[in-house]
Amino acid sequence: MPENIAANLAAIHTRIAAACARSGRNPSAVRLVAVSKIKPAADVSAAFAAGQTVFGESYAQELRDKAEQISAPVVWHFIGGLQSNKVKYLRGHVALIHSVDRLSLAEEIDKQWGKDGAIADILLQLNLGAEQTKSGTTAAALEKLVRQVAMLPNLRIRGLMALPPWEDDPEAVRRYFRELRELAAGIDALHIPQVEMNELSMGMSHDFEVAIEEGATLVRVGSAIFGERCDGGKR
Ligand SMILES: *Cc1c(COP(=O)(O)O)cnc(C)c1O
Repeated sequence: MPENIAANLAAIHTRIAAACARSGRNPSAVRLVAVSKIKPAADVSAAFAAGQTVFGESYAQELRDKAEQISAPVVWHFIGGLQSNKVKYLRGHVALIHSVDRLSLAEEIDKQWGKDGAIADILLQLNLGAEQTKSGTTAAALEKLVRQVAMLPNLRIRGLMALPPWEDDPEAVRRYFRELRELAAGIDALHIPQVEMNELSMGMSHDFEVAIEEGATLVRVGSAIFGERCDGGKR
């Protein structure tokens, strides 16, 4: 319901501001990505009317379909697992891809964006809990991947993203958020051309405040804005 979406967004912004105040951060350094996967385009329009501009989607065709349906100038981010053969659906629609976890995927994005003479902004996704069911590169493999992806001409690495293991207590996730921040600092210190570590995409409905305290610049919040999804629970 549109009224709920506006009220939920206001409540999230209040909580973001409080988390920033607790950790001495400027709220303008934290961007809210409203995760609208599986939700109808009307919900996106309602959130946009309430002032939300950045939306995250996890399925390539769904993002393309919504982008074509919605005329408002929303900014789309892709946050889900991505097969190389679906990259073509994102071309021309997406401002940031959070979920690049392997060279072959980066090469396909480079190829597709190159067709438009465009530069793709991407984040590299880490699988910090070494979970079988999740995508993401490992901390040990990160530097090599960064160096390989940085050679691609139509891509720019802007930072890192993680989807840590689910914990009932958000405090238990704090160590993963801290690990992501430290990995980014380590890459930053290498001063690799074409590589910036300005963005840390971490934190969801359940744990975004802890993520902000640990340095998140992009928080990906879905159910706390749009309500629960019927996608099989906790992910
Ligand atoms: C679905 C999803 C989210 C949002 O999760 P909520 O718990 O609904 O806030 C964030 N990040 C990714 C990668 C997702 O797939």
